[in-house]
Amino acid sequence: MTTSAREVAVAGDTPYTIHIGPSLLDDGALLARSVRGRDAMLVSDTHVAPLYADRVIAALQAARPDLRIHRHVLPPGEAAKTLAHFAQVTTALADARMRRDSTLFALGGGVIGDLAGFAAACWMRGIDCVQLPTTLLAMVDSSVGGKTAVDLPQGKNLVGAFHPPRAVIADTAALRTLPPRELRAGLAEVVKYGALGDADFLDWLDANADALLAMDDAALAEAIARSCAHKAAIVARDPFEHGERALLNLGHTFGHAIETEQGYGGLNHGEAVAVGMVLAARLSETLGLAPGADTQRLRALLVRLQLPVDVPAGLDAERLLAHMRLDKKAVARGLRFIVWRGAGRAEVLSDVPESAVLSVLQEA
Ligand code: NAD
Ligand code: MG
Repeated sequence: MTTSAREVAVAGDTPYTIHIGPSLLDDGALLARSVRGRDAMLVSDTHVAPLYADRVIAALQAARPDLRIHRHVLPPGEAAKTLAHFAQVTTALADARMRRDSTLFALGGGVIGDLAGFAAACWMRGIDCVQLPTTLLAMVDSSVGGKTAVDLPQGKNLVGAFHPPRAVIADTAALRTLPPRELRAGLAEVVKYGALGDADFLDWLDANADALLAMDDAALAEAIARSCAHKAAIVARDPFEHGERALLNLGHTFGHAIETEQGYGGLNHGEAVAVGMVLAARLSETLGLAPGADTQRLRALLVRLQLPVDVPAGLDAERLLAHMRLDKKAVARGLRFIVWRGAGRAEVLSDVPESAVLSVLQEA
């Protein structure tokens, strides 16, 4: 099959390519390109596997008739991102006699990407993993950069490893089956890349908001490619989050506080990040760092993308602040936030006065 896929190169110790375009999950030659040995395992969840697993396996098998392809399907959702399911996947790898040159394909959203990626990182001290992201969030964020993990009852992503994939293959057509709310959540992370580093991208998103919501393939591919290019550049400069990679958390300190306070049953992650980015912009404004007009533009763009921009009614500012004090991204001294000096220019700011944070939350 010939494709008009777009490609984004990710530099680093183990460079790889992100392929973006419609119907790439049917491109057997592309899927087989990173396979070295004679065994592969596809890991997916019960929402995604019935939609796409047979197609991926058929395409791969056609390109590589000698390949032994196994599959393992997990329950969907964050609740599945556990050590128990990690153990289940490694047991499946053992039962399938997967070897050091075997390949693991992670077909699904960020949950499958993180969990299967972590299993690939650990099995025989590391085998090849190809990420096949099927949510917008996974295409623009979790499949890129090599972070893998599972959750513990004590917190999210507490056990994990850095294990860059061999390749990322993002089929934009797979987004058609995604619940619209999940698509919008991914768009919040797309907006984040513009907000933190590329004001022109914010203008482009504004002009293409309707096409994106309508899941136009060309618009989605452009948004994904530009997002991945931003993440790839930051990750290449700071693979282990010693500095600049922290900028990717724009909006996340506020967002996590909202998710935690709502017990993870209210706004989803992307929605909380949308609200969090507006709050971060307002905090920057309060601290005299950024013009209010840029906050208004950001807010208007998120509204066009049908994302929330206000703290949900009934949440207490003091309680949100208490969650932020415990955020693992807070450092020993004081609160640390990603602020901006206007659209496209984010930076890390430590020792942010609690009074400024409170006033932003209380205005909300
Ligand atoms: P998810 O994997 O739970 O997917 C969301 C839902 O959509 C699930 O029910 C899934 O089964 C379903 N789904 C996926 N693709 C579908 C499709 N094409 N059609 C129909 N349904 C589909 O959630 P997510 O938002 O993709 O990922 C969230 C996870 O990503 C979190 O665990 C988070 O910690 C992680 N994450 C990791 C990184 C990283 O750098 N590793 C970055 C950001 C987020
Ligand atoms: Mg995020």
